Amino acid sequence: MNNINNLPKVAYFCMEYGLDTSLKTYAGGLGILAGDYMKGAKDHGFPIVGLGIKWKQGYTDQKIGDDCKPYDCYKNYEYKFLEDTGVKVTVNIRQRKVVCKVWKVDKFDNAPLYLLDTDLPENEDAWITGQLYGWFGEERIAQEMVLGIGGIKALRTLGIKIDVYHFNEGHAVLAAFELIREKMDTGMSYSEAFKKTKNEIVFTTHTPILQGNESHYLDRLMYMGANNGLTLEQMFEIGNAPFNMTVAALRLSRISNAVAQLHCETANKMWSHIDNRSEIIGITNAIHLPTWVDEKMIKAAEENENLWNNHMDNKKKLIEFIQERNGVKLNPNKLLIGFSRRAAPYKRSNFIFSDETIVEPLLSDGTIQIVFSGKAHPLDDTGKKIVENLVKMSKKYPNSVVFLENYDMTIGAILTRGSDVWLNNPRRPKEASGTSGMKAAMNGVLNLSILDGWWPEACEDGVNGWQFGDGFESKNIEEQDSHDLKSLYKVLLEEVIPTYYDNRSKWIEMMKNSILSTKEKFAVKRMLDEYYEKMYISS
Ligand SMILES: *Cc1c(COP(=O)(O)O)cnc(C)c1O
Repeated sequence: MNNINNLPKVAYFCMEYGLDTSLKTYAGGLGILAGDYMKGAKDHGFPIVGLGIKWKQGYTDQKIGDDCKPYDCYKNYEYKFLEDTGVKVTVNIRQRKVVCKVWKVDKFDNAPLYLLDTDLPENEDAWITGQLYGWFGEERIAQEMVLGIGGIKALRTLGIKIDVYHFNEGHAVLAAFELIREKMDTGMSYSEAFKKTKNEIVFTTHTPILQGNESHYLDRLMYMGANNGLTLEQMFEIGNAPFNMTVAALRLSRISNAVAQLHCETANKMWSHIDNRSEIIGITNAIHLPTWVDEKMIKAAEENENLWNNHMDNKKKLIEFIQERNGVKLNPNKLLIGFSRRAAPYKRSNFIFSDETIVEPLLSDGTIQIVFSGKAHPLDDTGKKIVENLVKMSKKYPNSVVFLENYDMTIGAILTRGSDVWLNNPRRPKEASGTSGMKAAMNGVLNLSILDGWWPEACEDGVNGWQFGDGFESKNIEEQDSHDLKSLYKVLLEEVIPTYYDNRSKWIEMMKNSILSTKEKFAVKRMLDEYYEKMYISS
C-alpha cells in the first residue's frame, strides 16, 4: 500500500450510517456497511470523510401490537454529542432556499462524518430531513438534493480538499450535478465538465431488486431544481426517463463496484443494456470487528481453547436479553437458531415454517429454538404481514419461537454472538451481500445459508458452516421455493441437529473453522484496501 499521506482523499456519500444504536441514522444493511466503513477508515488512518443526513426521527421504531401486527412509531431524537461545525449551506429546492446546518460526528471511533440538517426555524421546508426513507416523490428528491448538492457545498465551506467522491448507492447521485456546475461556473464546457467530474466519482451499487433502484420523473426533477442547471436532454442522456438513480450513477462514475462476487455477476447482467456506463467490479463487503465480534472468541479460536465456554457465555447473555425483553426463557442446552432480516419478501423470513408437519415436532419438544427480529418498511404491507406471521408463530410456540421487536444494532450484535446457528434463506440471487452472516461467522455462530451474497466466497460446506439449495435458481418461484425448502430440511435434520446434539467436538471444530476462515477475509481493512487499490487510486 502507498504511503498514507499520498493516498487520495475521499468523500463518502450515503443516506444512512449505522454507527451506534443511539444514533438513529440507519435503517439496515446499507447503513451498517457505511458505519463500519467509517470506523475502519479511522482505525487504519485512511483520509476519508463521510457525508450524510441528520434524521430527526430516524427510520421507524417498531412496536408489536396485541393483535400481533407491527406498528410504526416515530419520535424526535436529540443528540448531545453532535458537534456544531458552525457551517450552514443553502440548496435551492422548489425555488426556495433551504438552509442546511452541518453537524460533525466522530465519537464512535469513526472518521469524521458530517450530517446535514434542515430542521431549522428559518426553513419553510424544515421537514426534509424528518424521516429516513419515510417518503417518496418530491420529498425523497428534496432529501437527495440535500445529501448530494448540500454535501458538496458543505465540503467546500468546511474547506476539506477531496480527490475522489464515492457514492454509496444511487441516492447521492445529485452531488455529481453540483460538481459539474462548479466546473461550468469557471467557464468549462458541459462536456469537459462532465468528463472531469466522471473521473472523480466512484460508485457502489447495492440491491439487485429492480424496484430498489429508485427512479424519478424527469419533469419533477426539473421542477424541483434537482437538475442544478443541466438541460432536460443532458438529464435524459445521464439517467434515462424516468431518471434512474443507479443508471445515472453508473454513467457518472469512472468505476463502480458490486458488493460481492456473485452480486458482481448479477449486477453486470442487470445493467448490461445500459450504454456508456462504468465497469462494475466486485468488492465484497466486510465488517468492523470491534463493533460486532467478541474478541474472546477470536482468541479462543486462535489458541484452540475455551471456544465452547465462551460461546455459552454469549448464548446465556442472549437468553437473558430475551427474558428481559419478552419474558420468555429459552433453554441454553438446546439448539438456538437466529434470524434477523428486513422483512422483504425475497428474504423469505417465514421459510422454515413452510411445512409445519416437519417443524412442529422440533419446536414442540424444543429440539430447535428460533429467534427472529426485523422491521418492514413503513409502506410495505407485505413485509408487515410477514412480521405478523412470525409473531403469531411465537404465540403458537411460546417456548421455542421468539420475535424481538424493533431490530437495531443492539439486537443485531447480541443475536450474532449468542445464537448457535445463523439462518439465511433469501431467494437466490437477490441478496447483494449480507453482513450479518459475517458477524455470526466470526463469533463462531455457524451459518446455515443459501449460496447467495457473500456466502459462496466463504462456505466450505460441513467444515465452517453449511449451504443448502446448491445454488439452484429458477424463474418459477414455486419451483425454487420447494427445491430450497427440501434442501433446508434435509441439512437441518441430517446434519445440523445431529452434529449439535451428538457430535459436539465436530461442532466446536466447525466453530473454530468458521472464525479462522473469515476473520481477515471479511474484515473492513481488506475492503478498504481493495477500494483504494481498485477504485480510489486511478491509473
Ligand atoms: C448487520 C446488520 C444488518 C445487515 O445484515 P444483513 O445480513 O444484510 O441482513 C442490518 N441491520 C442491523 C441492525 C445489523 O446489525
